[in-house]
Amino acid sequence: MNKKERRFAGRIKTLVPEGAYEVLAKAQQLEANGKKVIHLEIGQPDFQTFPNIGMEGIRAIASGHTRYTPSAGTPDLQKEIAAYTTARVGKGFSPRQVVVGPGAKPLLFFPMMALLEEGDEVIYPDPGFPSYRAIIETMGAKPIPAPLDEEHGFSFDMQQFKERVSNHTRLVIINSPSNPTGGIVGTKDLEKIAAMAQKYDFWVLSDEIYSRLTYTEDAVPSIISLPGMEERTILVDGFSKTYAMTGWRLGYGLMPEDLAQKVGLLLTHSVGCTAGFTQVAGIEALSGPQKQVEHVRSVFKRRRDTIVGGLNEIPGINCQTPLGAFYVFPNIKSFRRSSEELSDYLLNEAGVAVLSGTSFGDRGEGYIRLCYANSTGKITEALGLIKKALNKL
Ligand code: PLP
Repeated sequence: MNKKERRFAGRIKTLVPEGAYEVLAKAQQLEANGKKVIHLEIGQPDFQTFPNIGMEGIRAIASGHTRYTPSAGTPDLQKEIAAYTTARVGKGFSPRQVVVGPGAKPLLFFPMMALLEEGDEVIYPDPGFPSYRAIIETMGAKPIPAPLDEEHGFSFDMQQFKERVSNHTRLVIINSPSNPTGGIVGTKDLEKIAAMAQKYDFWVLSDEIYSRLTYTEDAVPSIISLPGMEERTILVDGFSKTYAMTGWRLGYGLMPEDLAQKVGLLLTHSVGCTAGFTQVAGIEALSGPQKQVEHVRSVFKRRRDTIVGGLNEIPGINCQTPLGAFYVFPNIKSFRRSSEELSDYLLNEAGVAVLSGTSFGDRGEGYIRLCYANSTGKITEALGLIKKALNKL
């Protein structure tokens, strides 16, 4: 078959690359040509996986955890995740509600595959993690963006949210703390969403992958703990961000048992299972010492304060102080350039790779995203370079 005749399925026609990978490729091209670039684009911890977890993974390979495991995860890891989430969320979960996958992403993808029919409406945050829209569209469902507003601390504008809900709504996606804004959806808004979920009979997918990276005294509320929500919520979490395990590929979801079985079947017939030694390392992550998570959190908090302080000193930039994750989402509207133009300019002129807010949806226009999972030295250097470049505009 020649290239012209080749035809791809309609369901993937809207798929586009993730902005972070595109900017990374552009930055690497500049580096190959000798330019120095500070990377604030890609969202992953700059720490190595904690040593006790790494060693446990190595021991697991050496002792033969190298075979297939049950598709939805080993019973030991399911048990550990159920206990961990019970403690974190303050509500009891059974191991049968747990599905383990290679990363959190499959636990976004497969539950949506199990639930969505052609034409179902799915409300998702805008700006939001790009995979949400990509997966909704791949399933043939209809993406309905709900704005996250700077004025609401980057939580939903509940009036606009309400206007988007109808009998066609099948699923609502929440991501708190959020990528790209670092914002948190508060209990009052979650209660309103929970009431609507029951009235209009929709599911909620709550992506809580940044739940341990928060900088407030209060625990981040989870919608699954509200009355009546356990039977219609998929709680997604994982090891990538909390334990610096992005490359290990380990994530999980908690959901009603019947849905968990269906998602397990989709895993059986796609990835088969998650690597056994990775799962053993996951048990160590959850049950081992948590001091390192606390340490990393305090380091991120200091870096957040450095980057927010530095950005707000640059004339024309207005940056809120996010309560979670490791991103800032400053307002750059005063420069009267599109977010894309400004982020290209910062890469080429300042040698600082950042993402355009529009990589996360139309409502990201007027903002850029910077990831502060980088050393304080690099962050401070980047701030100086950004200031110098923006002063020229
Ligand atoms: N959800 C959000 C909001 C994320 O930011 C990411 C990764 O960037 C993921 C899910 C995917 O995580 P994982 O690496 O575990 O697949």
